[in-house]
Amino acid sequence: MRPEFATLQNHPDLSVLIVGGGINGIGCFNELALQGVDVLLVEKSDFCAGTSAAMTRVIHGGLRYLENAEFRLVRESLRERNRLFRNAPHYVKPLPTTIPIFNWTSGMVPAVRNLLRWPTKPGDRGAVVIKTGLTLYDFLAGRRSPLPRHQFRSRREALALRPSLNPEIICTATYFDARITYPERLCLELIQDAEAACPRARALNYVRLHSASGGAVVLRDEVSGETCTVRPRIVVNAAGAWIDGVNRDLGRPSQFIGGTKGSHIVLDHPELVRATGDEMIYFVNRDGRICIFYAVQGKIVAGATDIPTTDPDAVCDDSEVDYILQAMQQAFPSIRVNRSHVVFRFCGVRPLPRSDALTPGQISRDHSFPVLPPGNGIDFPIYSLVGGKWTTFRALAEQVSNQLLRVLGRPRLCSSAHVPIGGGKGYPRMPQGTGLPQDRLLSLTERYGTGADRVAAYLVAGAVSVQSDVDAPLASLPRYSRREIEFIARNERIVHLDDLILRRTLVGLLGEATRPVIEELAAIVAPVLHWSPQTAAAEVARTILLLQSVHGMSFKE
Ligand SMILES: Cc1cc2nc3c(=O)[nH]c(=O)nc-3n(C[C@H](O)[C@H](O)[C@H](O)COP(=O)(O)OP(=O)(O)OC[C@H]3O[C@@H](n4cnc5c(N)ncnc54)[C@H](O)[C@@H]3O)c2cc1C
Repeated sequence: MRPEFATLQNHPDLSVLIVGGGINGIGCFNELALQGVDVLLVEKSDFCAGTSAAMTRVIHGGLRYLENAEFRLVRESLRERNRLFRNAPHYVKPLPTTIPIFNWTSGMVPAVRNLLRWPTKPGDRGAVVIKTGLTLYDFLAGRRSPLPRHQFRSRREALALRPSLNPEIICTATYFDARITYPERLCLELIQDAEAACPRARALNYVRLHSASGGAVVLRDEVSGETCTVRPRIVVNAAGAWIDGVNRDLGRPSQFIGGTKGSHIVLDHPELVRATGDEMIYFVNRDGRICIFYAVQGKIVAGATDIPTTDPDAVCDDSEVDYILQAMQQAFPSIRVNRSHVVFRFCGVRPLPRSDALTPGQISRDHSFPVLPPGNGIDFPIYSLVGGKWTTFRALAEQVSNQLLRVLGRPRLCSSAHVPIGGGKGYPRMPQGTGLPQDRLLSLTERYGTGADRVAAYLVAGAVSVQSDVDAPLASLPRYSRREIEFIARNERIVHLDDLILRRTLVGLLGEATRPVIEELAAIVAPVLHWSPQTAAAEVARTILLLQSVHGMSFKE
C-alpha cells in the first residue's frame, strides 16, 4: 500500500478534502495550508493535467471581458496579474500584444448594446472601440501597474516594424499583459510550498475520488487500484469540467457546468516566429472570435476555439486545426501555414457555468462556488469551484478559504497576496559556486527560478571537476542533461513518463518528443523510479499512444 494511504488509514479525519489538482484546487490547497489547516488534495491524473495545462499561457486582465461590462472581473484579474509579476517573477513575464485594426468605427453598436446588457453577437472591432477599451484597461490596471500603457501605431509604422502584417490594416494597437512560461511547474511549486508550510497538508496525484456515503469518502489509487477511506468535514470539488461527475459520485448530483472546449496548435514555423517577434498577435477572426498567436521558445502557439461540449475529455480535432490555421492567415496573409507545420495540439474544457448566452464568448469567465449542504445521505457540505481563470486562482482560493475558515471556526493567519511562490523567492539570483558555465546557469534559472540552486547543486554533487561529464547533455535533446532529468525524477512527483514530458518540461508542448527522446528519457527515469524493463517499455508505449491520440503527433516506425 502506498505510504500516504497507510497514514490516512490510521488517521482518516480531515478538515478539508479537495478533489482536483488543477490550478483552482491547488490554489485552495496552498491557501488553506498557509492557514495551518489539515487538508488533503487528490488528483486522478497528474497535477495540472486537466484544463489548467490547456491554457493559452497568458496571465491577463481579460480585455475582452470589458465588452460584457465585467469591470469587477477585469479589475480583479489585473490586480492578480500584477501580483503574479511580484510573486512568480521567474515564470510571469511581460507580453506585448498587438491588435491589427482594419477600420475606424465598426463594433460601436454591439459594444454599446453589450454595455447596456442587451447581448449582441460581437463582430469586427474598429479603432474607436479598441482605443476606448484599451484606455479603460490601462485605467483599471491602476497607476502602480508594472507594465507600460498601450500605444497605437500608424499603418506605415506598423508595416515597417512587421512587414508581413496584413496590408489592409489602417493601424495597430499594442498593449501589455503577461506570459507564463511554465504554468504546470508553478502548480507543482504551489504544492511544494504548501506542504513545506503545513506538515498536515498533503497532495496526492493519481488518486481519484471514487464514492461517498455518510461522512466517509472512498479514494482510489489509480496505479495500484487500492482504496482508502477518509472522513472530511468539508469537501471542495475543484474538478473543473468534471465537477458534475464528481458531485454525482459523491451522491449529490448537480448541473453546474456548461463547458466549452478550447484548442491550440503549436507550429514549427521560423518565418512566423520572425514575423511575430516578441509580441502576441491578437485579432478578430471573420466569425467575430478572438484568436491569438505568439512565439514560445522558437515555436508558435496559436488558438483558441470555444465550442460548447459535454465531454470533459474532449480533444482537439482536425476541423479546429483548420479553423486556427485559416484564422492565422487573416493577420499574416503572405505567410503560408498548413497542417505540415503543426507539431503538437492540445485542448481543454473551460469549466464555465451553465448559461444561455448567445455565443460561448459571452459566458462570463468569473468564478463562483455554489454550496451543496449536507443531505441525501452525505454528512459534509460540498463547495464546487465553478468557472474562473488561471490568472485569478489566488483570488478565488482566498474567497473560498475565507468561507471554509468560518465553517471550521479557525482564524485567518496570513494573506497569500504577497507570498512569493517556489523559485520566485529571492528571484533573480543565480546559483553560486558550482563552476557550471554561465549559459547553463542562465537556462537553469529560466526553468526553475531560484530553485536552480538545488538543481545545480545536484548536477555537480560528487563531481571531481565540472570538466568531467557530470552535466553531460542528452544525446537526443542537448538542452537537458542526464543529471537534470534524474533530479526531476527524484524530486518532482513523477508517476508516469508523460508527467515528465508534458508537465515538468516543455518537451511535449514544443513538439520535441520524438521516439529517441522518449526512449532516452525513459532509460534515465527507470532506475530512479525502480521501473523494470517491462514497465519502462510500457511507459514508452503509453507516452507514444497519448501523444498520438490526444496531441496529434505522428511516429514513424
Ligand atoms: C483553451 C483555453 C485557454 C485558456 N487560456 C487561459 C489563459 O491564457 N489565461 C487564463 O487565466 N485562463 C485561461 N483559461 C482558463 C483556465 O485554464 C481555467 O479556467 C482553469 O485552468 C481551470 O482550472 P481548474 O482547476 O478549475 O480545472 P482543471 O485544471 O481541469 O482541474 C480539474 C482537475 O480535477 C481532476 N479530477 C476530475 N475528476 C476527479 C476525481 N474523480 N478525482 C480526482 N480528481 C479529479 C482532473 O483530472 C483535473 O486535473 C483557458 C482555458 C482554456 C480551455
